[in-house]
Amino acid sequence: MPTNTDIAAERANSNINARDLTFTLYGEDGAYRRKLAFERADKDQAFEKSKKFSLMDRDKLYDEAIRMETVVAQRLQEYGYNNSKDIQTFLDRGYFLSAVFLGVHPFAIHFGGFIPSILGQGTPEQIQEFLPKAECMEYIGTYCQTELSHGSFVRGLETTATYDKSTEEFILHTPNLSAIKFWPGGLGRSCNYAVLMAQLVITGKNYGIHPFMCQLRDLNTHQPLPGVEVGDINYKFGGNALDNGYLILTHYRIPRTHLLMKYAQVSPDGTYTRQDVPPQIAYLSMTFLRTILVTASASSLAKAATIATRYSAVRRQTANRDGIERQILDYQTQQMKLFPAICTAYALHFSGAALQSAYNDILASVGNGDMSRLSELHCLTSGLKAYSADISSHHIEVCRRSCGGHGYSHASGIPDIYQQNVINCTVEGESTVLYLQVGRSLVKFLKKADSGEKLPPALAFLSESSPPTAKLTLRTESTLDFCVSVFKYNIVQLSRAVTHQIAQSLSTNSVNLEAALALHSLELVKTAQAFAQYLTVLMFVDGVKGSKLNPKEKLCMLHMCEFYAIHNIVEESGQFLKNEALNAEQLSQLCQHRTFLLTKLRPNAVALVDAFDYPDRLLNSCLGRYDGNVYEALYEYAKDSTLNQHQVHPSYHKYIKPMQQAIRAKL
Ligand SMILES: Cc1cc2nc3c(=O)[nH]c(=O)nc-3n(C[C@H](O)[C@H](O)[C@H](O)COP(=O)(O)OP(=O)(O)OC[C@H]3O[C@@H](n4cnc5c(N)ncnc54)[C@H](O)[C@@H]3O)c2cc1C
Repeated sequence: MPTNTDIAAERANSNINARDLTFTLYGEDGAYRRKLAFERADKDQAFEKSKKFSLMDRDKLYDEAIRMETVVAQRLQEYGYNNSKDIQTFLDRGYFLSAVFLGVHPFAIHFGGFIPSILGQGTPEQIQEFLPKAECMEYIGTYCQTELSHGSFVRGLETTATYDKSTEEFILHTPNLSAIKFWPGGLGRSCNYAVLMAQLVITGKNYGIHPFMCQLRDLNTHQPLPGVEVGDINYKFGGNALDNGYLILTHYRIPRTHLLMKYAQVSPDGTYTRQDVPPQIAYLSMTFLRTILVTASASSLAKAATIATRYSAVRRQTANRDGIERQILDYQTQQMKLFPAICTAYALHFSGAALQSAYNDILASVGNGDMSRLSELHCLTSGLKAYSADISSHHIEVCRRSCGGHGYSHASGIPDIYQQNVINCTVEGESTVLYLQVGRSLVKFLKKADSGEKLPPALAFLSESSPPTAKLTLRTESTLDFCVSVFKYNIVQLSRAVTHQIAQSLSTNSVNLEAALALHSLELVKTAQAFAQYLTVLMFVDGVKGSKLNPKEKLCMLHMCEFYAIHNIVEESGQFLKNEALNAEQLSQLCQHRTFLLTKLRPNAVALVDAFDYPDRLLNSCLGRYDGNVYEALYEYAKDSTLNQHQVHPSYHKYIKPMQQAIRAKL
């Protein structure tokens, strides 16, 4: 089919090279490896059916997903995607799996939670023992922490692991209904192992939550072992190819050596020892997953923005006086839905990359015995993970609505993207809970700054308390400098205000610190959100400025940075004005400039989303097709409805016809 003329014209008239941007986003080598992983999945007939996952009933869906997992296991070996210790291979495997399943899949937590936990919590000997079995899929595992009554509050978990020194075993036990493990991915029917979090008890003393390698099913028959009751938790909002499960353990015994002992050990006689390391060290694997989730949120939004923008280029509505219908992409109001989404996807992408590099730097310092930047890392990963999940979900829904009625159809592909992405707001730390932690950290950092302590690099700006001095001249570079200083000052003001309020509550209400913090939770969350938003602006601007883009492409990206920074200020203008980070005159200048920037971004809108380089398979959308032939695709999709298998549906003969006959008989 020839390419739609409107979308072809968009590409011809763009003044940037999309390929140049693609290389900047993923790196030249990274872009090729990613493309290769996508193509391998796309060309493989074994993975055809995942495009129709959202239309299958649960049993069929799960059966098909498991069949594909077995093919995937072979392909991972074949393509060399199996080395979990190598970050590049980890990423390639992620690309491949995302293209195979187009969403979560039964062994997702095996790769994303189980293996990283063994690597992060096991001793070298334990890694040597367990990892090869996990990598060759003899052990299929999950990460099993959440219980019916506790998720965020990890210390509240009730499952116990009581040491029996007479047999050198731990006895794992679910003491009551509320302690049933609930939600772990793959637990229901797929896994035979779990890294299970439980309260460690030795001779009556509770040592807190620890990770245990726990076999759940027989390795030959796959039957649950005696003392193990396990099942699937039934339908969810999305991601139904994955069997999230529940688990009840009844005085279930595992060997002492199955406590993952990197940070804490129990000797045969029951002596407990713990390494003297900061608590954040034990959570480094979770921190790593949070960095990955920032990029995952960016990717989801990039896909939704690609679909909505391409569709807006080919969709025409409302004839003018000359009888010409305009592309909906030409309407200013449509641009104000799409361009913030496109720019946010870019901003989150650059933030994910910057976070990854901060993570690597800090990890290297930890390796050299320097623990001083762990709180900074926690602040960055928690804030950015929560913010990117929240803001991407918001924009994905805006993209869906920007497609009008067809956005409501599964054919648009956006409902699936939304369902998958919104999980990121809850897993690996629920957003509000993370913001509260970040807010409290900011208060602590501010106090340190006030007492003259040197702050870690990402927080150093908290020591600067003077209002923005940069003049607003509305030239790209200086606008960006102005905006960044406005963001910084706003956070300093927010942090200072909430610190002051907490201190006041402590002195006047005679409450303890915990109660004082609770009284100002809303302000703490606001401060943390502002901090994360500022990070995305800064990381976007730094990423673009530091890139090796050609001049035209660089200018276009700087316009996007400008638009993104201004848009975020304008949308939260009340807060910025209240904190005197800018004045009403400056705000009005920024508003006008934002509208002007729409005209700068408009000619390159399609090229900007093409640069995300998602093949049609990954978009899985009639509206987002590269060739723009959306109406043909929608018609084919409609014809494919299972209701259309019979020209006269059997229900007509069973119900409608008898009803009509009965009515006629009474007349
Ligand atoms: C699709 C999916 C997959 C999952 N996979 C896994 C898995 O593989 N393994 C696993 O162990 N778990 C898994 N989980 C569970 C997940 O980790 C938890 O749901 C998550 O940590 C949130 O905890 P919660 O459900 O207890 O929410 P809650 O903590 O009960 O949150 C409910 C509300 O209470 C608020 N709240 C909670 N605490 C506070 C507080 N201190 N102050 C203010 N507000 C608060 C929250 O902001 C939220 O609005 C999964 C969940 C989902 C949805």
